[in-house]
Amino acid sequence: MSSILIKNIGAIVTGDLKNPLRNANSIFIDGGIIREIGNNVSRKADRVINADGITAMPGLIDSHSHPSIGEYTPAQNSLSWITNYMHGGVTALISAGELHLPGLPLPPDARTALSVAIVTKRCYDNLRPSGVKVHAGTLLLVPGLVEKDFDEIAALGIRLVKFIFYDYSLLPNGEAESYVKWARARGIKVKIHSGGVSRSGVSQLAGWEIVRKIDPDIIGHITGGPIPMPEEEMIRIAYETDYFVEICSSGNYRLALSLIRAVKARGIYHRVLIGTDTPGGTGVIPRGILREIAFMSSVGEVAPETVICMATGNVGRAHGLDIGILEEGRPADLVLLHKITGSVATDALDSFAKGDLPGISTVIIDGEIRVAGRSQQTPPPERVASETGY
Ligand SMILES: [Zn+2]
Repeated sequence: MSSILIKNIGAIVTGDLKNPLRNANSIFIDGGIIREIGNNVSRKADRVINADGITAMPGLIDSHSHPSIGEYTPAQNSLSWITNYMHGGVTALISAGELHLPGLPLPPDARTALSVAIVTKRCYDNLRPSGVKVHAGTLLLVPGLVEKDFDEIAALGIRLVKFIFYDYSLLPNGEAESYVKWARARGIKVKIHSGGVSRSGVSQLAGWEIVRKIDPDIIGHITGGPIPMPEEEMIRIAYETDYFVEICSSGNYRLALSLIRAVKARGIYHRVLIGTDTPGGTGVIPRGILREIAFMSSVGEVAPETVICMATGNVGRAHGLDIGILEEGRPADLVLLHKITGSVATDALDSFAKGDLPGISTVIIDGEIRVAGRSQQTPPPERVASETGY
């Protein structure tokens, strides 16, 4: 694998809320890992990229995605969606369950749910479309699972389970609580579908009361996917718990704004995750995460470098993954981007702050250049990074 030196970067967004901007202009990558970030780094590299003063940020991680089989999505009968998302700056997808598998009985019985998780995990471990890291095999929690099933998924490297179809009228029997306990004991995170019924028509409703009974790690699409819980219950979760809360493109914009204001009032940025909750009825949205960042930065009036953390470092941390932060020793997943010609913004961050989409020039995943020059899914940025001789 070639080593890469990126020079002349205008701004580095780290994805780490503790220090979202880093004063440096170069990144050196070797063996797929970021080895050095600094000013005027002069290490010898196989490939040298001149960023021409544009911005670097971590590859985006879609916190709520619905992969099924390869790059085909049955939700909209479309192909190549993962590559198109990669051109929108997404370098990793977190599956919120492979529930669009054609013909899958919903809700699935326990053996079927377990089988789907195992098969999709093994397939995506063996297939990374355009290099994108697909964290699949998210087990849909339904009645009838046993502790050894959690051993099995843990051994396969599955790190997420999800409540969506579980019949909460069964809660007094203690099974759901056991699932949460078994998951936690194995380092597996628990996500819950929150709000109203989803496209399947058979997802279970979950607001404040159910969330408190289940006690998950992550509240899936708290602002709606597509229908949110009542606003006061959402605010109560924001103020009275420590759960991670997701804002998804499929949701209710009024509640997204309400949540952003609450988050801002309490300074609880570290608990917010951005996802798309696509593919699905909302569609296939390659620029979905970029649009969410622009919305929260401009309408929500939160600093863009802070919002970017919600779609990168926060998502990695919430799911126990080492991705989403630009720092030495981390996987080299990054995006170079800049303002689009005609935008009143001055650079990529100012684009987000003004509500404009920036244009992507370069995408690198695990130290491999996947997009060079310009993205096929954003308009071209006014300036692009280019490979130069050393
Ligand atoms: Zn979903």
